Amino acid sequence: MNWEQIKEISDFGYEIGSHSRSHPYLTKLSLSTQKKEIIDSKHTIESHIEKNIISFAYPFGNRNSQVINMVKDNYLFARTTTDGDHFHSYDLYNISTIHMTPKFSLDILDEIYGR
Ligand SMILES: [Zn+2]
Repeated sequence: MNWEQIKEISDFGYEIGSHSRSHPYLTKLSLSTQKKEIIDSKHTIESHIEKNIISFAYPFGNRNSQVINMVKDNYLFARTTTDGDHFHSYDLYNISTIHMTPKFSLDILDEIYGR
C-alpha cells in the first residue's frame, strides 16, 4: 500500500497502528535505536495520515520492560503475538492476538466468542 491508500482507509475508519520502522527485535537494540523504531515510526505515520497513532504491535512480539515502558509513554495500547482472546486482556500493553489464516472463518470467530 502507498501512503495515499493508507490515508484513505484511515479516513474511512480503519485504525492504523505502528509496527516499528524496520521490524527488528526491539530488545536487542540500543535505547536510541529503540526510540527511532518505536517513536519515529509513530510520527512518520501520523504525518501521512494526519491522525494520532495510538497502537503499537511489537515485531515478533519481542519486548521487555524497557520496550514496554517506551511504548506506554507513546501509545494507548499494544498488541503481542500471543494467541488469545483480546477481550479478556486487562493489560493494555500485552494484548493477545487471534491469528488470521486462510482457514479462518466467521464460524471460528463464533466459537471463540461464543455467539
Ligand atoms: Zn510483524
